[in-house]
Amino acid sequence: MELTFLGGAAEVGASCMLLRVAHHCLLVDGGMRPGSREGRLPDLHALVTSPPECILITHAHIDHTGALPLIASLYPSAPIYATESTRALMEILLKDAVRIMEQEGLKPDGETPFYTAEQVDMLLSRIQPIGYYQPFAPLPDAAEISLCFLPAGHILGAAMLYCETPEGTILHTGDISVTDQRTVKGLDLQRLPAADVMICEGTYGDRGHGNRKEEERQLMETVQATLARGGRVLCPAFAVGRAQEVLLILKAYRASGHMSPVPIYIDGMIRPVCALYQNQSHDLQPGLQRYLTNARRPLFADPDLHIFAVRSFERPALLERTNPMVVVSSSGMLSGGASPLYAAALARDERNCILFTGYQDEESPGSALLRAQRGDVIRAGEQSIQLYCQIARYNLSAHVDAEQIAHVVARVNPRHLFLVHGMPEALTALARRFKRTIVTIPAVGDCVVALEGQLAGVDLEPHYAAVPQLVTHGDSEPLATTAAVALSSRATSAAATLAPELPVPSIENLWRSAALQGPARPWTVVELGHAYYGAGYRPALRAQIEQVLLEAATYFRIERVGAQPTYQPRPAEEVKRFVSLSQLVPGMIVIVRGHQGSPQLALVLEPSQAGNILLIGEQWKAVPRPLNVICLVPGVMRPEWLALPATTVKAALRTWRASLDELWIDLFAWWAQCQEEHRGSDEQREDFEYSALCNLAQSEDERVAWGLELLLHGVNLFRHEDLYWIPFERERILRDSGFAHHLALLRAGKGTPVNVRGRRAVLTGRSNWRLFEVRWTEEGEGEGELSKVRTVHIETL
Ligand SMILES: [Zn+2]
Ligand SMILES: [Zn+2]
Repeated sequence: MELTFLGGAAEVGASCMLLRVAHHCLLVDGGMRPGSREGRLPDLHALVTSPPECILITHAHIDHTGALPLIASLYPSAPIYATESTRALMEILLKDAVRIMEQEGLKPDGETPFYTAEQVDMLLSRIQPIGYYQPFAPLPDAAEISLCFLPAGHILGAAMLYCETPEGTILHTGDISVTDQRTVKGLDLQRLPAADVMICEGTYGDRGHGNRKEEERQLMETVQATLARGGRVLCPAFAVGRAQEVLLILKAYRASGHMSPVPIYIDGMIRPVCALYQNQSHDLQPGLQRYLTNARRPLFADPDLHIFAVRSFERPALLERTNPMVVVSSSGMLSGGASPLYAAALARDERNCILFTGYQDEESPGSALLRAQRGDVIRAGEQSIQLYCQIARYNLSAHVDAEQIAHVVARVNPRHLFLVHGMPEALTALARRFKRTIVTIPAVGDCVVALEGQLAGVDLEPHYAAVPQLVTHGDSEPLATTAAVALSSRATSAAATLAPELPVPSIENLWRSAALQGPARPWTVVELGHAYYGAGYRPALRAQIEQVLLEAATYFRIERVGAQPTYQPRPAEEVKRFVSLSQLVPGMIVIVRGHQGSPQLALVLEPSQAGNILLIGEQWKAVPRPLNVICLVPGVMRPEWLALPATTVKAALRTWRASLDELWIDLFAWWAQCQEEHRGSDEQREDFEYSALCNLAQSEDERVAWGLELLLHGVNLFRHEDLYWIPFERERILRDSGFAHHLALLRAGKGTPVNVRGRRAVLTGRSNWRLFEVRWTEEGEGEGELSKVRTVHIETL
């Protein structure tokens, strides 16, 4: 077994390692040194003689992925593996990297970009998403090499790599955190496998972090002190991980009353990353998942809670504002993004505070600001920052400290330990802790034989057995599923992981499994995948589930929490109705109802597709609408209208609608009839379906008119439950004096003499909502004529 360190060895940046084992070559990470003036890329020479057969990615940070678009394009047939969240984050980070490189390339002394946006797209499209604890064989023709991603606790999607080979087992930590963060849980020490060879990060190998909660408390004390003196706070933060931590801390302290209720603004690349964190909610720590399920609120930007995502056109106005507020903006070292702008604006006023929470590169403006004296001027890109405000720094690290590393190493108990990803001092200090292990601190370019002189490959039993993860939802039982696939620990399950040949569920199947296990709650895509496939679920199946969910509208109520779509199973009755709706044919007349607007007539233009239907309404343009706006009035067709221009159809619908109002549909009469039928029977409720009501009517026009009237005024007289309309109790209706009067007039009936504002008339027997028709009987002008009169003006004699 041979390890070659191409970057990220005795340094932080450009992490890249080549593993040669059992006659195969695997590459782990391909990072960049973003701030560096020279040599941003790892030393790729070793790849010429040992081309990687696959590429494994621990996490999305640029110091682990920044060179991958280039490397991947050099080895177009090598499969690439990462967790789903890592792939999603890479998309944001690498596209930003391209943008920055292109900007730099415009300067006369700039290097040309190492790769293009197309290369980034190509890389992303090649990545196969892998779930945690799901072993797979990374090389198609080497089943003896098995890999497993384990949660690393560092940022969303970060993984350790555990590899079983004929020459021994290997654990590559990538970047790790043992401490629970607010976004992700720390790595699980209990589930750490033992390994013969361990490659471990040592960023803070010579330091302790202190208590995380205490650090947060002190940070918030400074925030609150600043706000209390009328100041503004800027937290420059790394877009991935740190910014989300800071936002959740601010949110928690403000919600508990320990921070003034001032607005919080989010700017820079943090915004899309926050949206992504929420879309990958299954990788977040359980408390946040519960918050999403229960509170149904976005996690980060949430205008109702006064946490705003700043759009670039709003920025100038925000920079002018002087009221207390907190701004969280990328980049974390003031080396780009929006944070230098805010720093320049805030630094001028001594009441304000700039708060750093992350690593500051020696050459970065952030680092310079930390060293600066009052009145000094610091350059940050185009901005010059003159320092008068307070500067503070707190440590919210997403890395293990020295003590924790010792713990992790003790659990893994390697025979050969490699310390990487740290400054030489940190790694040397760390090495001293391990007396009984071979420890190597490689330099960039080193090629080291692991387990040299030891008998490798003796222990072929897997140290790490994957435990199938059963998902539980609240109090319900662990899932017994239709398509549960048992996990075996070794590469035998590779096929299931990489090219899932599990059946594609129908939308009805997805609905059934969700309705069975959690009928009253919204589900995310990933949860639906777990509900259907059980332990057989793989991230690679997500795309096919999302495809099926395009048809979801008839089976689920679809809502968005922030940017994340959620799916709540509809009750069976409702599904029945919507499924019947999905069989609508062009030329049908339906009644449609938007969110608020009053019901209107519409013509179906095309059959339904993916829960939407193309129709044209009295007041609506011909665009696809969700099926759930439709109320079906059975058997009313106008196929001949399909050939007409849209404007003509719209006009015809309006004319028709106007004529329907002349039909005198009285909903009170129907309510009273329901009461009548109900009386004397033991049955407590007399309910009816919408379409049944419409069917009672004689003519087609009446059917439509009844349908419209029920939607317009029905809620005043009937309770609405799923498909059913249930008449309100008599007492409740009679309590409304207007309603009682209307009913009294109805009972009095045709021919009843009445007094209308001092004139005599008789009821004709026609009435509708708050209107009666009368025939004037007083001698003189208008005698014998008909009028519509508002109910309130009518008195019986
Ligand atoms: Zn990292
Ligand atoms: Zn790193």
